[in-house]
Amino acid sequence: MDLPQRVAYFSMEIGLQSAVPTYSGGLGILAGDTLRAAADLEVPVVAITLVHRKGYFYQKIDETGMQHAEPVEWSPDDFLEEMTPRAQVTLAGREVNIRAWRYAIDGINGYPVPVYLLDTNLEENDEADRSLTDRLYGGDLHHRLRQEIILGIGGVRMLRALGYNNINRWHMNEGHASFLTLEVLQEELEKNGNSKPTEQEINAVREQCVFTTHTPVPAGHDKFPREIVEQELGSPQIDNCRKLTTDGKLNMTDLALHFSHYVNGVAKKHGEVSRTMFSGYVIDSITNGVHAATWTSPPFHDLFDKHIPGWREDNFALRSALGIHREEIWEAHMTAKRTFIDAVNRLTNAGMDANVLTLGFARRAATYKRADLLVSDIARLKSIVATQGPIQIVYAGKAHPADGGGKDIIKRIHEAIPQLAPEIKMVYLKNYGFSLGQIMTAGVDIWMNTPRRPMEASGTSGMKAALNGVPSFSVLDGWWIEGCLEGVTGWSIGEEEPPEDGDESAGDAQSLYEKLEHTIVPMYYKERKYFASIMRQCIALNGSFFNTHRMMQQYVLNAYFC
Ligand SMILES: *Cc1c(COP(=O)(O)O)cnc(C)c1O
Repeated sequence: MDLPQRVAYFSMEIGLQSAVPTYSGGLGILAGDTLRAAADLEVPVVAITLVHRKGYFYQKIDETGMQHAEPVEWSPDDFLEEMTPRAQVTLAGREVNIRAWRYAIDGINGYPVPVYLLDTNLEENDEADRSLTDRLYGGDLHHRLRQEIILGIGGVRMLRALGYNNINRWHMNEGHASFLTLEVLQEELEKNGNSKPTEQEINAVREQCVFTTHTPVPAGHDKFPREIVEQELGSPQIDNCRKLTTDGKLNMTDLALHFSHYVNGVAKKHGEVSRTMFSGYVIDSITNGVHAATWTSPPFHDLFDKHIPGWREDNFALRSALGIHREEIWEAHMTAKRTFIDAVNRLTNAGMDANVLTLGFARRAATYKRADLLVSDIARLKSIVATQGPIQIVYAGKAHPADGGGKDIIKRIHEAIPQLAPEIKMVYLKNYGFSLGQIMTAGVDIWMNTPRRPMEASGTSGMKAALNGVPSFSVLDGWWIEGCLEGVTGWSIGEEEPPEDGDESAGDAQSLYEKLEHTIVPMYYKERKYFASIMRQCIALNGSFFNTHRMMQQYVLNAYFC
């Protein structure tokens, strides 16, 4: 498929590889997985992001459980190729020069998807502007706005400077990239020799733009006071979005919605929730996925190669995992688990045992994810272990440095560690990222998630677990509403609808402990065959579907080439 047109994919964060710290969590990993799938399927995509020279932070946690953030030092020129063309944006009347670094994602048959990482650290720029592309989600509102102008407007100009003149779709992966619409509008105006946009130009922009919204959490939708936008952006750009401001603020989600002809949420439920949040817009949903070859552990690579040749090119083929013998699934899992438990013991000296049922919980430490729900009743957990058999627990995840609530959760989990000892071993691993994610989603026995409904737009780490035969035990939200078949692919926590006036957390904790005690721990120790059947079903039913190959095909059909 060598289409003459291209899709330009814009994302504030993209998880390219483990050693390149240009992502903070699910959004960035998803962007990377999306591009890896595009390369495998030879979909003509080019991507834009920022270089984030100081990375997303290096996490330290002190004895009290307090998180401290330090810059991550990495050298872009070890991984990226510098491009010659420059682009410029104007910020508060100053010209800022932008350089691009190229990273190529090569597909399974060598098809390259280029990613351009924008960088303002150039000698010709003012000192203060040189650090604008240093930190992902760092700095104040002004700083954030400048970064988004560089991404959106600078990104379009850079693609033009690099010779990309055949772009038929601009895909905004979350609202951080919405300013691209203003630049595409400017191009249309220039094409028509108009100074003020008419229906014609606005429709031309809409025809080219698509937008994916990723979260119902209000803080996830950037809003900038109009005065600040006017100061930084200047006219004429601001005139073209002035009408879009409400309460004196420009909401980046509104900007993207206004200029897009196709909008989607990232799971069926999230589509529904987004339709009520943004009434008046048609909002579809495309459920997220993960890049199967990236998130399948080495022992499962070997197992699938043996039984399902071609699974990397055709992830749907994983459905025939149902024909693999349970013992082989179990053996592959134990190999992945030993690798992980060895790493845990090396990192923490916890003395964990690969024969003990291991629960895993790792993701950004955002308050809505309620990471501490599992340890909310220490006595109850101890009594489950006393009657049903041992468990051990592994946590990981970074809180955003400015998120006090998230940091409190990390603290509370640390406080629970000595309370659970010695009956239950628990650790909190630092610096959750790409490579720890790979060994952890494959190396625990149960993958947990406990978000407040309906805040988990999709969630993706449970999909990584499923590819490795690890069942999820999670609140019915996001992708898990679609992926959970009770007792077949894992287990739900609580009901799909939260209680109307009751305490969501109390009910969920109750359900969590009940199922752990009466279903999961006994099955793990006494009905191993049955447990292994569930593992196999995770791969066949969920691994074959919740992947970015399926997802990319839906974007191609519904958003890109239609
Ligand atoms: C997959 C992944 C996430 C996303 O986790 P959720 O399940 O969406 O909460 C976050 N961080 C890393 C490092 C990941 O690999």
